Amino acid sequence: MFVRLVSLLLFAGTGALFGGLFMRIVDTSAPLWGALAGCSLWAGLDALYGSRLVVWLRNEAAGQAHPDANFGGGIWKELAERIRKQIRAKNNALKESETRLQDFLEALQASPNGVVLLDEEGRMEWFNQTAATHFGFEVHRDEMQHFGNLVREPVFAQYLSSGDWSSGVVMPGRQNTASKPVRLMVHLHPYGDGRKLLLSRDITPLEQAEAMRRDFVANVSHEIRTPLTVLAGFVETMQTLPLQESDKERYLDLMAQQTQRMQSLVNDLLTLSRLEGNPPPGFQDWVSLDVLMDQCIHDAHVLSQHLYGRKRDVEFSLEPGFEIAGAMNELQSAMGNLVANALRYCGADAPIKVKWAQTPSGDFCFSVTDGGPGIAPEHLPRLTERFYRVDRSRSRESGGTGLGLAIVKHVAQRHGATLRIESQPGVGSTFAISFPAGRVRLKQLQAA
Ligand code: ADP
Repeated sequence: MFVRLVSLLLFAGTGALFGGLFMRIVDTSAPLWGALAGCSLWAGLDALYGSRLVVWLRNEAAGQAHPDANFGGGIWKELAERIRKQIRAKNNALKESETRLQDFLEALQASPNGVVLLDEEGRMEWFNQTAATHFGFEVHRDEMQHFGNLVREPVFAQYLSSGDWSSGVVMPGRQNTASKPVRLMVHLHPYGDGRKLLLSRDITPLEQAEAMRRDFVANVSHEIRTPLTVLAGFVETMQTLPLQESDKERYLDLMAQQTQRMQSLVNDLLTLSRLEGNPPPGFQDWVSLDVLMDQCIHDAHVLSQHLYGRKRDVEFSLEPGFEIAGAMNELQSAMGNLVANALRYCGADAPIKVKWAQTPSGDFCFSVTDGGPGIAPEHLPRLTERFYRVDRSRSRESGGTGLGLAIVKHVAQRHGATLRIESQPGVGSTFAISFPAGRVRLKQLQAA
């Protein structure tokens, strides 16, 4: 204020001095007029800078202000400087909160769950890409649309109108089809002033795992109940009826068969649970293919003796000296299962050929080919499912558990290998495990 007063006095004084120069020519009031003219000039300049500031402020609001606008040297300049500083501070704060909001939205975008922000009316203010996929939304088209108008699933409509959102609701997703179900868990969380946060989660894999677990328990119970019922029947017969020695012996044989069946089932179940519970075998142990094949040949003889009452021909075409990186018992179980299946399903005389060879791609392939009845194509994709059998009675008669190929597939995967099944009804089948070249080596010769 003091500076303004001094500048006004300076202008008035300069005007009075200037007027004094003309005092003799005009009259004695010339200094007064000069002072008045000085004051008017000061007021004019002041009004000019003031209005410049007003225009600058208007342009600034429109984002078109000149950065070097001149407001003289007085109060207007200082005012402009202060306003500039405040605007800069506000802009910085705005930019910072915009960045923070952007980070926040990016985090929500990265969420594996669907996130939808609903306003008081239930309109979608924002949703992430996962929610768009879950419900089939399009970003620009569906923003600010009513969620309830776009998602018309009755189960959700009922949930929304119930007002009790303490737990979620399960509903089909947008991409749900009969062959490929998609199930969503949707949960509303109220917040703020009537707003809602809607979270959606794809629970299809969870539901599938739960269904698989239920089927598995039902299958195991069924597989155990059948031999148990037979056993219980024989025990009761032996307890209640006076039996001849020969009948007793026959019954005991049949009971032994049922016990054997349960034992095989429990053994296969334990093998599967070991495979699932243990980390996959690394490269520290190298298993000799020769040893594995000796065991296979021995087991094949024992099984053919049991099934056909004689040693049955199995052709082994192998080069000696190979080793596979992996677990001995697992590889034994997988290879033995394939040879046993060939023996059990292709009858007493069809040819069976076991081969170890390198494929053109460099992999090493263990294959069992039989000239048995073969398998119809519709069964092939399901053969490795637990308890899936093409020929139920043949499987049971020959001591099958329905878990053999599931074990083979699991073992193959754990060794980085793949199981290939080719079969033609009336011609025969080939079951092959292909090991990557890195898992196979020729035996290292011991230094003499
Ligand atoms: P299982 O214990 O019943 O043999 P697997 O999982 O080993 O169970 O085999 C699944 C089904 O695949 C068998 O029940 C059988 O019907 C069919 N299968 C397996 N190997 C052969 C084969 N070499 N020839 C014909 N069918 C086979």
